[in-house]
Amino acid sequence: MAYDPNNIFARILRGEIPCKKVFEDEHALAFHDINPQAPTHILVIPKGAYVSFDDFSANAPPAEIVGYVRAIGHVAREQGVADSGYRILANHGANSHQEVPHLHVHIFGGRRLGPMLVKS
Ligand code: AMP
Repeated sequence: MAYDPNNIFARILRGEIPCKKVFEDEHALAFHDINPQAPTHILVIPKGAYVSFDDFSANAPPAEIVGYVRAIGHVAREQGVADSGYRILANHGANSHQEVPHLHVHIFGGRRLGPMLVKS
């Protein structure tokens, strides 16, 4: 899938749409999910144009991968969920129900999160 530069997270990165930012550095931007599923629900996105984890893991240079992973851990600690525990999740493609075609990791925390997947 080709990267769509008009996806909503690309527009947030360009400052065209506001977000409730919690962290930013050269590699990543983190902000509150607009429809939180847990008391803490933060999205962390890389600054580079990657459709999903599949694209990022195959194509991002090592410095961007390190910077992004470190940002996710940093944000979780900064949000105060590292001690109590948290879940990170990245959807890729149709079966996962990925909605926004720019890589994003969800950080969920602040309550007991229950089973990993809904039974179908
Ligand atoms: P996914 O299903 O993994 O692609 O998740 C997309 C997430 O983006 C959902 O949890 C949405 O609530 C969230 N979302 C969509 N638009 C925005 C926005 N403008 N600001 C913050 N979060 C958003």
